[in-house]
Amino acid sequence: VSTLSEKHALVDAARALGASGLTPGTSGNVSRRTHKGMLVTPTGVAYEDIRAEDLVEVELSGQWSRFGAEPSSEWRIHRDIYRARPEAGAVVHAHSMFCTTLSALRSELPAVHYMIAVTGAPRVRCAQYATFGTEELSRNVLAALEGSLACLMANHGMVALGPSLKAALKVAKEVEVLAEQYWRALQVGRPHILDDQEVSKVAEKFKTYGQPRKARERA
Ligand SMILES: [Zn+2]
Repeated sequence: VSTLSEKHALVDAARALGASGLTPGTSGNVSRRTHKGMLVTPTGVAYEDIRAEDLVEVELSGQWSRFGAEPSSEWRIHRDIYRARPEAGAVVHAHSMFCTTLSALRSELPAVHYMIAVTGAPRVRCAQYATFGTEELSRNVLAALEGSLACLMANHGMVALGPSLKAALKVAKEVEVLAEQYWRALQVGRPHILDDQEVSKVAEKFKTYGQPRKARERA
C-alpha cells in the first residue's frame, strides 16, 4: 500500500499538470512507481479536484481494487513503461497542443534545439496510431520510447517519463516547447536540424551541468 506522502506528491503533480495548461480538460494523466506497482490518477476527475483517496494503486500485474475509483483509461501505458523501463519513476501523458499538432502530421520531432538532449535521444519519435486505452497503443508507445524519455502519439498526444514526478513533468514541458519551436520554424522556412553527434555531446554536458566539481574533474 502506498504511503500518504507518495499520494500527496502525486496529487501535487496532477495539480501542477492541470495548472500548466499542458493538457486540456480531464485529458492526460500522471503516475508514479510504488513498491507494488504504481499510483495513477483516476479517470474523468478534473485535476484541481483530485484528492489522495481518488488515486488508484495498480499492481504491475494490472490488478486494482474494485472498491475505489477507476484508473485512467491509459493505465496500461503507464504500467507497461514501469515494467519495461527500470529507470522510470514517474510517467506523464498529455494532449499538449504542439505535440498533438505534430502527432496529427504523424511527424517525429527533430533536434531543432539542443534542449532535445533532455530526452536522452536526438529525436522524439511518433508512436503509430491505435485506439486509446488499447494494448496495441501501449505497444506502439513502448516501441517509440526506445532509448528516449519521450514520444509523440499519432493523432493523440505525448508521453514523457523520468526518475521522479518533477523530472517527468520537466521532460513533458520541454518537449512541448520544442514541438512549438519546430512548428513555428516550419511556418517561415525549413529549420536546420542538429545532427545526432551534436545532441549526444550536449547530453554528455547535461550529465555534469550544475555540478561544477564533477565538471572540473572531467575537464
Ligand atoms: Zn490520451
